[in-house]
Amino acid sequence: MCIPSSSIPPGLEGRYREFETELKHTRPFYFDTTKNLRHDLVTHCLTTSVTSAIDAKHEAVFGLALYGLGNFIENNFYRSGVSVNARSMLRTLLETYLTLAYLAEKSKTEPTIWDEYRMYGNGQANLVYRKFEENNFQTSSLKPEDIEAIANEDKWVEFVPINLGHWDNLDLRKIAEIVGEKPLYDKFFTYTSGFVHANWAAVRESQYQKCLNPLHRLHRIPSFDLPVMGSATNDMVEIVNKILLTVDELYPDFKGRLDFAPANKDITDNEEDEESETKDETSSKPDQTGDIAAEENTNGEA
Ligand SMILES: [Zn+2]
Repeated sequence: MCIPSSSIPPGLEGRYREFETELKHTRPFYFDTTKNLRHDLVTHCLTTSVTSAIDAKHEAVFGLALYGLGNFIENNFYRSGVSVNARSMLRTLLETYLTLAYLAEKSKTEPTIWDEYRMYGNGQANLVYRKFEENNFQTSSLKPEDIEAIANEDKWVEFVPINLGHWDNLDLRKIAEIVGEKPLYDKFFTYTSGFVHANWAAVRESQYQKCLNPLHRLHRIPSFDLPVMGSATNDMVEIVNKILLTVDELYPDFKGRLDFAPANKDITDNEEDEESETKDETSSKPDQTGDIAAEENTNGEA
């Protein structure tokens, strides 16, 4: 009979506590602060806008910043910091920041780089649309007419080449080196790539646990639940703040930043309140945690 490691204290206990902290403290904290921060960013976007014509630089800078901050807000809203999704999102944030930093750096000597970035994206939209049209694809995530509208939004789209490489023919590693962020790249790129590309390490970390039956030679058995991994929220804060700092450099003065949540407060401080908050606590627990014991029984017999 298998002995799942999650059934042995501390097992997953520490991670569930981290998840609880995230739900009870971190999440409410960011609900308020990100609402104000996003409002400030939108205001700064509007007050620094100087034309209603295409301004490839301005729209890229604020678009990328809103994209990064928006991803962070979604992560908080959907309480996904401890999930596989958060790892994919962390990777997206890394790419968002490095793209913005690279555009900012390159534009010092090559001001048209903002147009090239934009044209590449329009070309990609055009490519997506053509593939949908040729193959008569139907998907739940995209209506072809929506992507066609984006591809044709800028008047110069007819002249837009479909470039299959990166918009500046560089990979992310080189970009990171150029903007002096190789350590940040090394810190997050390979780990998060594993989740985006479904590498074995990511599959192993998120979907399997060890069996502790000494006769079973520490083989792996599926986790009985959705994964609860270390929270990626603080890592996201680190990257979002780099994005906001870059906005500040390109369009001064934008001083809004995310703070680290005063969470990870020692859970024992809250044990007393927990009794009186039993009801809230139950309702705030993730749906997937409830059935562990029941599933353990089922799986234990297998
Ligand atoms: Zn076993």
